[in-house]
Amino acid sequence: MKIFLNGKIVPESRAKVSVSDRGYLYGDGIYETMLCRNGRIFLLRRHIARLFRSARMIALPLPWPPQYFCSAVEKTVAANGLRDARVRVTVSRGCGAVGYAGKVTARPTLVIAASKFNGWPRRLYENGVGIIISGVRRNHPLCIPPAAKSSNCLNQVLAAQDAERRNAFEAILLNTDGYVAEGTISNIFIVKNNRLLTPSLETGILDGVTRREVIRIARRQGIVVAETLLKPFDVVNADECFITSSTLNIMPVARMAAKKFGSAKPGSKTLLLSRALERLIDKETQK
Ligand code: PLP
Repeated sequence: MKIFLNGKIVPESRAKVSVSDRGYLYGDGIYETMLCRNGRIFLLRRHIARLFRSARMIALPLPWPPQYFCSAVEKTVAANGLRDARVRVTVSRGCGAVGYAGKVTARPTLVIAASKFNGWPRRLYENGVGIIISGVRRNHPLCIPPAAKSSNCLNQVLAAQDAERRNAFEAILLNTDGYVAEGTISNIFIVKNNRLLTPSLETGILDGVTRREVIRIARRQGIVVAETLLKPFDVVNADECFITSSTLNIMPVARMAAKKFGSAKPGSKTLLLSRALERLIDKETQK
């Protein structure tokens, strides 16, 4: 694998970051994960725009314009000869003097990695996955803001351990007020009485690129969408449920803990939206 590291494409064996890097020491950085199909990144500009929003939220000045990131991502995919891939852009605050407020002496560290990715196993989409409500709560927005895609992922790491222990694909985190927030790597949607419901951004979640796209597609299809407050009770009693992310797209949820949704197979709205999103991805990556 070839890696983009601070302006150069280098073999993975030479892609080394300093032990003094604040990304390594403190999780002091931000990142994006994107989907590449047919050698093209789906919604690349939107991901880079969110990277800039995340940077602002953690007061990390980026010394390059958005176009630099877009070209660097495309260069990395091409250097690896990839068509279908998962691409991660990581920016850390770089190296600096010891201490949280230590003066940063270098430019941010920029790493872009692209690896072959043919999608998650098909059977997961056919059968749906299991989720649990984690005992771990989502960071309060006054702590590490969940809207920033920060490299400090311990909140998600702890919740993912919970999912693993309980044999679930994804752990859903509640916010500190007990409302449903999001998964460790995904946003969550439910269908109830033909309406599509998802936690509002005010709940304290990542403004998912896929979430936005799904809301847009659903409204275009004439489905009523509400960004609202949801309790675990609402999820348990939903007619359908699915989770979204840039690599999952729309992943049907068949069960929450022991409770099965509907027939436990992907529901009709979930399938309709999945197909519409797939068509959009194909169209956008074939241009
Ligand atoms: N929520 C969290 C916490 C995530 O980490 C992710 C993606 O990694 C998402 C939601 C989904 O976001 P997107 O659709 O932009 O990939």
